[in-house]
Amino acid sequence: METILITGANRGIGLALTEACLNKGYAVLATYRDEGSCGALKALGGDHAELSLMTLSLDDEASILAFAKGLRGRKIDVLINNAGVMGPVNQSLTDMDSAGWLNAFAINTIAPFTLSRLLLDNLSLAERPRIVTVSSQMGSLNRVSKGAFAYRSSKAAVNKVMQVMALELQEQGIIVCPVHPGWVQTDMGGSEAEITSEESAAGILELVEKLQPEHSGRFWTWQGEEHPW
Ligand code: NDP
Repeated sequence: METILITGANRGIGLALTEACLNKGYAVLATYRDEGSCGALKALGGDHAELSLMTLSLDDEASILAFAKGLRGRKIDVLINNAGVMGPVNQSLTDMDSAGWLNAFAINTIAPFTLSRLLLDNLSLAERPRIVTVSSQMGSLNRVSKGAFAYRSSKAAVNKVMQVMALELQEQGIIVCPVHPGWVQTDMGGSEAEITSEESAAGILELVEKLQPEHSGRFWTWQGEEHPW
């Protein structure tokens, strides 16, 4: 049985991904950070014995280290770096919260790097190891639009991080890809967004299932199409 680790699994895309993976027969290691906000995630465990819940705070390197230590020796087939934040309320040219920008970088950019790096031994135990990072087309250098400096730059940076990581892990056979999940109806995406978290999750999982070494180091959409960097 393949094991998929999903960060930020208590709500939004992460929760939908967890449910989609469980329904397809995967074992899921699902992370959350706050006991008070994981009722829906815990409820999934009632129907699925293959769900393990673990706490992880991605803005705290000690938490990431302890988490990875707790998984020592355990095979992970797929790591989905899903958790992310929009960043500070003030992130415009005229009003920037620089501390908030740094925090967005810690969660959206550095944490996926650190977690991926610390789980390489676990991934190496898998037959077709994959690291899939939920990024955003808002970080694409090909798309020109205004505002959201902190969010856009943190996603552009994580795309670059994943591209470099893909190259460095090529010989080990670890597939690394960022994915744009669509504009999704979640707390982050808002109710006006184009697709549901279930639609996004189904597409991302289909992509995860088809990823082969030749797909590594490329940016994908939830619909399985290549996205321009
Ligand atoms: P939500 O805001 O609904 O959920 C975000 C998740 O990330 C929550 O589980 C949250 O946990 C977790 N998280 C946030 N900060 C931390 C932290 N410091 N440590 C651990 N976990 C944390 O967002 P979405 O589901 O919409 O987004 C998921 C991913 O998809 C993100 O990376 C986002 O950037 C990306 N994305 C989303 C789009 C959309 O339209 N929704 C579009 C493009 C990309 P908690 O509940 O504890 O806060």
